[in-house]
Amino acid sequence: MRRFRSSPGRGGGARHGRVTEGVILVARRLRRAPSTVLRTVPLPVPGRILARALAVVSALLLTAAGQAPSADWAMVGRTLDEQHFSPLTQINDKNIGRLGLAWYADIQTERGMEGSPLEIGGVLYNVQPWNIVTAYDATNGKVLWRYDPQVPTRFGRLACCDIVSRGLAAYDGKIYVATLDGRLIALDARSGRPVWSVLTVDNSKNYTITGAPRVYAGKVLIGNGGAEMGVRGYVTAYDAETGKQDWRFYTVPGDPAKMPEGAASDSVMAKAAKTWTGQWWKAGGGGTVWDSLAYDPKLRLVYIGVGNGSPWAQHWRSPGGGDNLFLASIVALNVDTGHYVWHYQTTPGEEWDYTATQQMIFADLKIDGRMRQVIMQAPKNGFFYVLDRRTGQLLSAKTTVPINWASGIDMKTGRPIENPAVRYGKVPAMVSPGAGGAHNFNPMAYSPLTHLVYLPVSETYMGYAAADSFDPAHPGLGTSFSGYDAERKKISEYADAHSRGWLSARDPVTQTEIWRTPDEQKGSGGVLVTAGNLVFQGNIATTFAAYRADTGQKVWQMPVQQVPIAAPITYMVDGVQYIAVNAGWGGGLAHVERSNYTKLFIGKPRLLVFKLGGTATLPPMPKESVEVPELAPPPKVAASADVVAKGEQLYGQNCALCHGVEARGGVKDLRHMSPQTHADFLAIVLGGRRAANGMASFADVLSKDQAEAIHQYLVARANEDWDNPK
Ligand code: CA
Repeated sequence: MRRFRSSPGRGGGARHGRVTEGVILVARRLRRAPSTVLRTVPLPVPGRILARALAVVSALLLTAAGQAPSADWAMVGRTLDEQHFSPLTQINDKNIGRLGLAWYADIQTERGMEGSPLEIGGVLYNVQPWNIVTAYDATNGKVLWRYDPQVPTRFGRLACCDIVSRGLAAYDGKIYVATLDGRLIALDARSGRPVWSVLTVDNSKNYTITGAPRVYAGKVLIGNGGAEMGVRGYVTAYDAETGKQDWRFYTVPGDPAKMPEGAASDSVMAKAAKTWTGQWWKAGGGGTVWDSLAYDPKLRLVYIGVGNGSPWAQHWRSPGGGDNLFLASIVALNVDTGHYVWHYQTTPGEEWDYTATQQMIFADLKIDGRMRQVIMQAPKNGFFYVLDRRTGQLLSAKTTVPINWASGIDMKTGRPIENPAVRYGKVPAMVSPGAGGAHNFNPMAYSPLTHLVYLPVSETYMGYAAADSFDPAHPGLGTSFSGYDAERKKISEYADAHSRGWLSARDPVTQTEIWRTPDEQKGSGGVLVTAGNLVFQGNIATTFAAYRADTGQKVWQMPVQQVPIAAPITYMVDGVQYIAVNAGWGGGLAHVERSNYTKLFIGKPRLLVFKLGGTATLPPMPKESVEVPELAPPPKVAASADVVAKGEQLYGQNCALCHGVEARGGVKDLRHMSPQTHADFLAIVLGGRRAANGMASFADVLSKDQAEAIHQYLVARANEDWDNPK
């Protein structure tokens, strides 16, 4: 079902564009410097902060031993167990009513803010789209330094789900950032100046990096993304001091004629290759580790969360079927050598974009009378898994939302009991969850006090169909999003009627939901839990809220003009506890949600920092962002049906990944282009006019005639839905 509501619903897209025009200009100015220059903007550093910055060095050394001070937030999930839990209690369920804004910083972007900042020794380090890193005085937001790695804008085209950055790592006086174009850069934590930089990918292939690096045992580990565009996934470990490569583990087998390849994965790739058929290596195979890693220093095991297959359709990837190891798996590696130790595959032979890259949490749980050291994950496929992290033994697995792809997990074999109807051919099959997943990147949290996991979940449905043909030289999803209109309409209608989201508090021992707070619609953010009996989460209602960790009762909320999709953090400086969160709607969650043409009144993306008694206030929303503009109707189609059909095909090949199937939603809903955007269409698509905003030029792949055909297809789609408001 296509939704193209009359003016109240329609306003969002146009409004969004207008509000952010100024931001685009600023971003463009930032882009002007030569792309090869590593540029830092040093700023005057007041003496008090300088003293703090020196303390940062020793604080970072402490984190090297996994002993981050409880006042700090020095790693993505605060500690190595990735619990997103803080023992701080100054802000608690008794005094939460006094929580107010301490300070905020505008973020110059109109793209998603998925990363959580780090805070160490009174300095807050943040990362934003295009991997720009800023160090702030954590008490008042004064900028200490800013570093722009000058990512070439053409890489915006390769990021399936926005040009986001999911965080930073810190170790021994350095801050580590991984860039969209595949570099890993070590910065001096005091000055923001680069210490070393290493290219971790082959730039002739479609790799991107959106995940946060992690530092384990003196090594910086980083994965990559691109499984929607024909790459082969891997994780690389570099010496944290020098940037010298230590080991690399590939997640899927390569060309058998080129094995062994001198990688840490060599010893297990022959075993993995037995689970593939055909010439899978030609299209990369996928299995990118685009987000989560975890590390147990006692076991010296690194856990990597492996993503989906490339292409999606198994028919085109591994035509004879097979499990396709290590797609959609948690793989445990020895931290010193990178060698394989064990794996658990969540979705054998996956073909629904069921990544197992979601965050992995450690805890000690008493299961069947025995204390177990567990690793927990809620991947996209809708199950919640509890494994023994020493051995990989599956301890339990239950669904968190209604799903249809499997009816359960066979505990004897650890394999899903799959519904055969979800293996799709050319006729679209309705599968739940859809590619957005029951749980995406937005981190869950675990409290060792309540013994509950706090998990943002979504119930979703999607139609999947295999493409008629697939050419590994032009890799993509191997799926089709056109034809079979009646079947697709039925699936869309069901999906629109049944999709919903909520924050779920889950007992991982009994695998039951203890409480839930429903979202207005799906798309709410990552989670923080504290010893103050509080759970914090940004939500789709453009507010930031706190709930009692034990009961789920909402005890506080504040309108923040944005959707904080990132996980909040908390820290204490000079005896004052702060809560910080990045608020910037975008990324994978928005990508899926916008296909329903969500009406959202959002303001500037910001870093928001709260404390008890905070009295800062946000400026009023810009006038144009709260008024519903009268949209001009789309122009008339000015081409033949043949040209429009050609445009549809080209759109599917080049644009749909970011702008949505049938031009519904995506990063920007192109049914809602303004008269100015229509006029500038070729300048944008071929001339790169909006490259700074992530819309790179396609002049190298599209001719003028082809770009015109896409434009006419979009005009046709706009007219189609304009005449069909429901
Ligand atoms: Ca994917």
